[in-house]
Amino acid sequence: MQISEIYKSLQGESTYAGLPCVFVRLTGCNLRCSWCDSEFSFYGGQKMSLDEVAGEVERLSPDGGLVEVTGGEPMLQEREVVPLMDRLIEAGYKVLLETSGERPLGRVPGKVIKILDVKCPNSGEPDTFDTENLEMLQAHDEIKFVLSDRTDYEFARDFVRRHRLAGRVHAVLFSPAFQKDSSGARDTSHCLLDPQELAQWILADDVPARLSLQVHKLIWDPAAKGV
Ligand code: SF4
Repeated sequence: MQISEIYKSLQGESTYAGLPCVFVRLTGCNLRCSWCDSEFSFYGGQKMSLDEVAGEVERLSPDGGLVEVTGGEPMLQEREVVPLMDRLIEAGYKVLLETSGERPLGRVPGKVIKILDVKCPNSGEPDTFDTENLEMLQAHDEIKFVLSDRTDYEFARDFVRRHRLAGRVHAVLFSPAFQKDSSGARDTSHCLLDPQELAQWILADDVPARLSLQVHKLIWDPAAKGV
């Protein structure tokens, strides 16, 4: 499979934020989100066998733990990434799959925790989520919405209500988008949507969502790679 990078850091998002995690980032994406912070993964990388990828994960985290398979869009390489996830699960890792949900998810192994990143209007890639993937949801999965303004928030709020997501997954995450290519200050000044404003909206509408900040951008320089 084509791999952009494999590294160990702290998980920055989801309910696993703050935990040590090995990231396996696959090359290639079929979307072009306006605030994407991993455009470097669209091209390049190196071809690695399943044994090589699993071996690198084991070298970085020999005693098990958390592994996130991400991209780009990892499910574009479904033929290779499904056996990889099976192998990591068998080896005792807890595996997260970060995906836009644009590709079919029916072959994702049942023990993998899916983090579905449903694209909102201002991402520039609205309506790309395949709603048939809602049928694949399991109680341990999480659904994330990255929000840049009120329009995105209302889209996410209505999506959560329409599909009754709160009772179907472990967590619904509302996350303020970060400015693309932001660097320097390690605080929320780079958020396109003020977290305080988002918090007030969530409370006012009583939305069953968890406000989620990208922890890694508050720890390290927001422009840093491999952290
Ligand atoms: S799906 Fe992810 S990797 Fe692809 S363009 Fe959007 S944010 Fe970037």
